[in-house]
Parts: sequence; structure tokens; C-alpha cells
Amino acid sequence: MRCSYCERACDIQESQNGYCRMYRNSMGTITENYPDSYLNIYPVSSESIPMLHFYPNSIFLLLSTIGCNFTCEGCISEFQTIRKGTLQDILNHHTPDEILAIARGYACRGITFCLNEPTVSLPTFLKVAQAAKKEGFLVGCSSNGYMTEATLQMMLPYLDFVNIGLKGSTDERYRECGAVSAVPTYRNLKTLYDAGVAVEVSVMYLNGRELEVIGAAERISVISRSIPFQVMRFMATHENLEPIAPTRAQGEQLCADLRRYFDHVYLFNTCATTELDSRCPVCGKTIIHRVFFGPMAARVLSCPSDGKCSCGYHFPFRGEIDPIFEGEVQILGGYRSIMGMQFISKILGTLGVTDERVIDRICNTVIENGYISNF
Ligand code: SF4
Repeated sequence: MRCSYCERACDIQESQNGYCRMYRNSMGTITENYPDSYLNIYPVSSESIPMLHFYPNSIFLLLSTIGCNFTCEGCISEFQTIRKGTLQDILNHHTPDEILAIARGYACRGITFCLNEPTVSLPTFLKVAQAAKKEGFLVGCSSNGYMTEATLQMMLPYLDFVNIGLKGSTDERYRECGAVSAVPTYRNLKTLYDAGVAVEVSVMYLNGRELEVIGAAERISVISRSIPFQVMRFMATHENLEPIAPTRAQGEQLCADLRRYFDHVYLFNTCATTELDSRCPVCGKTIIHRVFFGPMAARVLSCPSDGKCSCGYHFPFRGEIDPIFEGEVQILGGYRSIMGMQFISKILGTLGVTDERVIDRICNTVIENGYISNF
């Protein structure tokens, strides 16, 4: 039985799982393994999805499940994508109505599937997206864009916004992540843009692979130079990955080069950079000032309420700009729960605990008993 949710097109034998381990063949039907089950549910700002030109500074309810159809080296979500076999027991089951009640409680404008790939939980995504649209919420996700055309057509009626995470521009680079080619992702990106969905792209930048990012810029700028282009500077999660992490200066230089292709280019995963700001392409002044807020996330520190530059240029964005958060920020930035798990794993390693099953059991316990939230 072939799974048609993503372009891996797994051939799944009876009672077996597909590559992502999120679907199985159950008596001739491809069935979702963990329906309506979530690992993370918490409020984030649009800049932590990240969407920088869509309802700036607004709050969305982040939802994540587990699993992925890619296996990228140094994935920041490794804990919930690669080690998913140990996490299924602590997933929280919620009906779509319960999810929307949580979203209302945090005064969210919408919901967003982030941190792992929504395609591997498509029936769950569609159910909650449909309920959310009916209740007037905005709906979107971050995705690697590797779903089939049929899957994308199922998602399209519900999508207001999408951040497509690109691995690079060549088939060779996509094969490093376990995919066959880059073609489906770029095809889907164009379909989303043509359908009027607010699209931003984030491109992984590995040291020495500048041409992959430039190649992505060349392909996307053909669609439109107004698409916000986010450079995700690779962050090493292990010491042996440090050689492939570019420096801040390299990231900033690449952003300068990319301005040939786009009106707005951003550098993520980088402390103390001004490359997260939105600058006026006419006079060069800063319109929105943002700072690093954890992996793949930014936080707005200043922004004119109408998004207008003093020279008259209108910062291009959809929706409304919400006021800057005052005092203690009640929302979480990028990948906080995952970073917390990584800290705990490292501390256990320092204490001499190396058995992955023991580490996973402890991590599961601190998620389950709520300790990780405070941590
Ligand atoms: S969604 Fe999962 S099971 Fe289906 S084709 Fe993709 S990797 Fe395979």
C-alpha cells in the first residue's frame, strides 16, 4: 500500500509503518498513528513561527506533533523528529474544540503547526484547521513543503500563511536530508504563492554551502522579489557539527549579497545582528527593530503602529500590527521546549548518563509532570 501524503511515497506493508513512523498500513488503509495528539501547545508571536510580514507581533497558538519525513543532520527538532519512538506515550490528546478553547484563553489570532512537519499528521491538521477557520481563526504552518500536490490541495482551503523551510536549491542537497529532489518543494511554494497564501521562506545556511542559498534565492525571486527571505544560519547542536556553522560575519555578508534578489532579507539564529530588522528599501532607515529570540525566532522591540517609514514607504505586511509587548514577555520564543530538553540531556551527559533510553525516560518525565514548562 503506497502512502500519498508526501513525495517519499512509502510502500507500506500490512501492519507496518512508513518512513516517518506516523502512518501505518491498517488492513489496506493508510492510518494516522497518533490522531489529535500533540507534544507542544503554547502561544508564540508571529515572529517565532517565523512570519515577519504577517500580523506583526500578534499571538498564535503553536501546535506540534512528532515525526518528520526528512532526516537533516543537526536538526534542531531532533528530539521530537528522530527520537520520536520514545515520545508517543506522553502526547496530549485534544479535540479541535479543546484546542480552540486554549487558543481563546491566550487571546490568539490563529493557530500554527510548527517545530515538526504537518504533513506527517495531516488528518489531525485538517480537522483542527477546519474547526479554526469556522471560528474565524487564522491558520498556518511551517513546513518543508515536500507534500504531494494532492495533499497540498487538501491543505490550501485552510491556509492563510506558510513558512516554507528550504534545505537549499539542488537535488544533491535535498538527498542529504533523505528526499529525492528539490522539485516538489519549489513546485509547492509556487502553488501556495499563486493561491494567495502569505508565503515566507527560510533557507538553511551551512558553512561553505553559500551557493545553495544563492541558488534558492535565484529560484524564488523568479516567483516574486517581494517574498520575505529568511537566512537560517546553522546552529551546531553538537561540537562535531561546529565546522558547518557559519560565523555571524559570514551570515551578514550573505544577506548583503541576497539583497540583489529581494526587498527584505533577514538573518536568524544570530545574536547581536541588525539583520533581523526591516529596513526601508527607499531611504535605508530601520522600520521594524527585532532581536534574536531563540532558534528560528525573533522579537519586535520597536515598530511604527502603521508600519510606515518616515520617508513614506509602506512596510509590506498583511493584517494588523499589534502593540509591542511591555514588561515580562508571556510568550515563548523559538524552540524553547526543545532547547530545554537539550540542556537536560547535556546535564545528564555531564553526570555520566549516556544510555539514550534513560535520557529519553527522564526527558519524558519532565515533559509529563510539567517541570519543563518552568525550566
Ligand atoms: S507521510 Fe510518512 S509514511 Fe507517508 S510517504 Fe511521507 S514519509 Fe512515508
